[in-house]
Amino acid sequence: MPESLQVEKLIQQQRQFFATGQTKNVNFRREQLQRLKQVIIDHQGDIIAGVKADLNRPEFEAYFEIASVSEVNYAIKHLKSWTKPKKVRTSLDQFPASAQICPEPLGIVLIIGPWNYPFQLMISPLVGAIAAGNCAILKPSEIAANTSKVVANMIRETFDPAYIAAVEGGVETSQALLAQKFDHIFFTGGTKIGQIVMEAAAKNLTPVTLELGGKSPCVVESDVQLDYTAKRIAWGKFINAGQTCIAPDYLLVKREIKNDLLEKIKENIQAFYGENPEKSPDYCRIISPRQFDRLADFLQNGKVIIGGQTNPEDQYIAPTVLDQVSWDDPVMQEEIFGPILPVLEYNDLGEAISQINARPKPLALYFFSKDKAKQQQVLQNTSSGGVCLNDTVMQFSGTYLPFGGVGESGMGSYHGKASFDTFSHYKSVLKNTFWIDLQLRYAPYKGKVYLIKKILTGL
Ligand code: NAD
Repeated sequence: MPESLQVEKLIQQQRQFFATGQTKNVNFRREQLQRLKQVIIDHQGDIIAGVKADLNRPEFEAYFEIASVSEVNYAIKHLKSWTKPKKVRTSLDQFPASAQICPEPLGIVLIIGPWNYPFQLMISPLVGAIAAGNCAILKPSEIAANTSKVVANMIRETFDPAYIAAVEGGVETSQALLAQKFDHIFFTGGTKIGQIVMEAAAKNLTPVTLELGGKSPCVVESDVQLDYTAKRIAWGKFINAGQTCIAPDYLLVKREIKNDLLEKIKENIQAFYGENPEKSPDYCRIISPRQFDRLADFLQNGKVIIGGQTNPEDQYIAPTVLDQVSWDDPVMQEEIFGPILPVLEYNDLGEAISQINARPKPLALYFFSKDKAKQQQVLQNTSSGGVCLNDTVMQFSGTYLPFGGVGESGMGSYHGKASFDTFSHYKSVLKNTFWIDLQLRYAPYKGKVYLIKKILTGL
């Protein structure tokens, strides 16, 4: 059967299943979340092996993927309170009615994922979709082929496809899915494909969550604790060989501490990965030859002052720092998404802020400084998906901070309660009674203007 027909049939089955109302039952949702948790626990080894095969990810970093279990735990714990209708006040003109806000599932949702954290970025949104009572179709990235298989097997093993299904495949599969009508599309990937997804969704007026990328700046003032700053930057940049959507993309450093900071970054890279990171068991590889070639070209920009070594056969690029880079260099024109850190300098914080604001709003913004007034200056004068002060990447962790972009770095957010909200419609319900029927709103209006004016406007 052609792929488009298969996809169509699958969606029909899910629509029928959704129509039975089973997914609206809170106990059903809780059971499914428990099943999801169990299958993750049972398949930890497969997940670790999958990301090892795709990205040479060390076991330690593989647990960043398996951390989805804490999303499941959090959802199970709060499911009852999240799903409860919330009573709200009514206004005087609504008297004697009562009002509440009732979360309801959207229906059939599509979740499309990228290759860089290929398990977590599929499963974390799924937690929200299940908790909110939806059916879901997952499309993992074909580029992380091994993990895609693991995800598909786990989903097949755990859920009836009429409820939750995984569809493996590349661009054509994605397009076949996008040609169908969904009730929500949750997309994680690049900005360009995000536009394609939004365009397809617009045809059916399907709402979208777009978790995109961009160039996340890392600004460093001169008053910092230098060693911790360098360590946290090197860690956030070089985990997963820089293939992290919120990795610091480039460094904007106060001129007077640039050399000291770079020296410390060098020391920390060595401390993490040894003299030759190619031999380190803790350093990842670039996902594909295509990405390798794209990144290797950036090494022509500026001057390599740390790293710079490559091995195409192994898709290895050393943790690299580029000095003497200008804003016009190709490395500053697109998201790097690899282990290359260009360094630019500034004299005055206002100047750094202007440079950031002259570019699309980033997914993350990192600012290192002890000075509260400067922290405030950055928070008030820039816009980004999230901000992390005096650290990198950690804003993604945990279930309490919603995660998402703004402007070109995306729209919508998830994690914890935000995931439930993303996959829910908050239905407003007003309930009147029959014990009284005030005549005020009905014609004839003669003699009532004074009162209606008072009630509606307070004037
Ligand atoms: P991508 O946009 O190339 O692919 C993402 C998904 O879209 C894949 O499943 C792919 O099969 C599908 N796709 C590709 N081309 C398509 C097309 N023409 N039509 C329909 N679907 C298509 O992204 P990627 O290379 O997998 O991931 C890298 C990007 O993702 C980076 O920009 C990164 O910043 C971003 N990202 C963002 C987040 C976040 O949470 N905001 C997380 C991880 C990655």
